[in-house]
Amino acid sequence: MSGIRMKEQIFDTIRHLDENRIVSDEELKELLTTQNEKAIDELLKRARNKALKQFGNKIFIRGLIEISNYCWNDCFYCGIRHGNEKVERYRLTREEILSCCEQGYQLGFRTFVMQSGEDSYWRGKRMEELVSTIRRKYPDCAITLSLGEMTKEMYQRLYDAGANRYLLRHETAEKSHYEKLHPKELSFEQRRQCLLNLREIGFQVGSGFMVGSPYQKLDYLIRDLRFLWELQPHMIGIGPFLSHKDTPFADKENGSLERTVRLIAILRLMFPKSLIPATTALGTIASDGRERGILAGANVVMPNLSPQKDRKKYMLYDNKIATGEEAAEGLERLKERIKAIGYEIITARGDFVS
Ligand code: SAM
Repeated sequence: MSGIRMKEQIFDTIRHLDENRIVSDEELKELLTTQNEKAIDELLKRARNKALKQFGNKIFIRGLIEISNYCWNDCFYCGIRHGNEKVERYRLTREEILSCCEQGYQLGFRTFVMQSGEDSYWRGKRMEELVSTIRRKYPDCAITLSLGEMTKEMYQRLYDAGANRYLLRHETAEKSHYEKLHPKELSFEQRRQCLLNLREIGFQVGSGFMVGSPYQKLDYLIRDLRFLWELQPHMIGIGPFLSHKDTPFADKENGSLERTVRLIAILRLMFPKSLIPATTALGTIASDGRERGILAGANVVMPNLSPQKDRKKYMLYDNKIATGEEAAEGLERLKERIKAIGYEIITARGDFVS
């Protein structure tokens, strides 16, 4: 095929993705690898317009509370893995978490996201009680959990206690890759089963993956997109893999900003209504990473509401940002930055609307 035909064809592919939400695997690969600057601009522009059409220039905020960095898992990529003995472990008390919610509520947050390592303390009855207390105190807020894998029964109890949303990245849709990122105790099938269980229970479900995780291949990314297509999650979180010096992947190369942004654009065209955050990892890899994510179709930011004394301890990767515009107390500055690119932060709960 001549160079000119090829050039034109990629614009057809982008238009097709925009209009039909799905293209072939080969076309997805082409979109991920093309060096054609005009085509990349067109992809980002169409994704941006898709988000503008769906959400206007409004960006939802979520208050992130990192409730514990204890973890019994040993994911090879993660800075708070069990085997990292250098981590100063902490777990927030019930009062500290409630005070984060109170501070967040005053600042205008209407979604609280509680995330942690897999910690037996913030599980079971104790977590259920915490969720129901937050539900009673803030009936107008959404409660999002990101606490890892649990039995279906436990997920059900948290849902019944008042949690609305659950974030659990599938990490990779290729089994052999999953096994290179995790120790043998963790199972690819179980991760997927958890997502199906969450969905069946009625949670708004978020999934996603790291971009550029060690051993990732182009084919695996296509599989990730196909997996998400089958799951049709309400939220999709992706961010670049960033290495942590005290993990087995200390020497692995970081994921790419450009590829992450391009994937956000593809995801936006595939999932026009999904809530797609400009993640902390994106804001860490480049100072304007969040803005670039928004300009490629992301529509959520998640500033950190955790107590300042503990923030540096939830270090999933080196140099993870936790202050300034990333933090709840820097909200005004974040608003200004978002305004500078033509968008506005709003305090609405921002549920998925089908
Ligand atoms: N324990 C819960 C779980 O497994 O879902 C929630 C906490 S876990 C630390 C949250 C996410 O952080 C993971 O799903 C993973 O994708 C991301 N993460 C961990 N280490 C990372 C790294 N080195 N670079 C980028 N993202 C990372």
